[in-house]
Amino acid sequence: MGAVQENIAERRKQQQLPLRPAGPLTVKALLDWYAAERRDLPWRYGPRKAADPYRVWLSEIMLQQTTVKAVVPYFQKFVARWPTVTALAAAPLEEVLQQWAGLGYYSRARNLKACADVVVRDYDGAFPRAEIELLKLPGIGPYTAAAISAIAFGEKATPVDGNVERVVSRLFAVRQPLPTAKPEIRRLAATLTPQRRAGDFAQAMMDLGAEICTPKKPSCLVCPVQQDCAASAQNLAELLPLKAAKTARPSRYGIAFLVQREDGAVLLRQRPEAGLLGGMLEVPSTAWGDALPTKTQAMRSAPVSASWMPVPGTVVHVFTHFRLELIVYRALVSVDAGFTLWAEPERCRWVHRRDLHGQALPSVMKKIIAHGLADN
Ligand code: SF4
Repeated sequence: MGAVQENIAERRKQQQLPLRPAGPLTVKALLDWYAAERRDLPWRYGPRKAADPYRVWLSEIMLQQTTVKAVVPYFQKFVARWPTVTALAAAPLEEVLQQWAGLGYYSRARNLKACADVVVRDYDGAFPRAEIELLKLPGIGPYTAAAISAIAFGEKATPVDGNVERVVSRLFAVRQPLPTAKPEIRRLAATLTPQRRAGDFAQAMMDLGAEICTPKKPSCLVCPVQQDCAASAQNLAELLPLKAAKTARPSRYGIAFLVQREDGAVLLRQRPEAGLLGGMLEVPSTAWGDALPTKTQAMRSAPVSASWMPVPGTVVHVFTHFRLELIVYRALVSVDAGFTLWAEPERCRWVHRRDLHGQALPSVMKKIIAHGLADN
């Protein structure tokens, strides 16, 4: 616990402070707390200091649907390799996808490259500062546009992610469930955003949500804005935000074909540019459907004619919208083995096992390969 948090906790013990509605004093308390306790992240600059728009943009794209812990090494790798948006725009897409492999949600990597290209071509390498202009760029939605505008340029913009949603719904004791409450939460968040230091305020809200106002067991006792928090006053903190009941995640099934050549190479295929895992490499497989195909059905998708053997066990991977369960078939073929008609040979390539780690392979494909080669 830092010094500011210790002081707050001590004050709380000594006196019962009355609730005051969230407003400018909340913002001041939060900014003071942020100046003392903010997280030290590689894309951040000191409070009151202008940030590099390229680093802000890169970090915000990487952080979409991904934790800070997972993003940090990728961010460091990207800025070391491509220190400016111009350098990133000059890189081949394939290389960007390779470096992104493992971070998930691969359409982000394609949009990252497309956005860098547009910024260099149409904006002379300088990101626009207004939300409305940022929204025109590939891969930048309302949250990211507001985050870049506020953090990189200090514009009065209010990025509202899951952390901020939670903090605001508690500060104002919003009892409407999510997602219906989203517009009201955004409106309330905007009422707090200060004219100056909007970037520090946005990051302070993010940090408060990540460190203090956590989904479970929020640390209200050391919270810098407890005096302004309606949920805490009403003993509702852990119950908010309310969420509408979730529908169950459906399952899909398929059979993957892991072909190993006798020289140690493995067959990979590039997925179509559009759609899930677009442009990434895959282990060829059947379509992923509602039921597991029979072996006869599956063999219509096999990329080579070979003696296929099922590998015991299954590979399970959970995507945002569905759970995938795959059986892996394995075959060993000679170096002159030909493709079947449905292999799409122009999209296929042989990659030696020792070179697999450098490929643009999403996590699910790494799991398939690890499972298929486990005893090999
Ligand atoms: Fe969250 Fe508790 Fe702080 Fe309210 S007092 S903002 S519920 S940590």
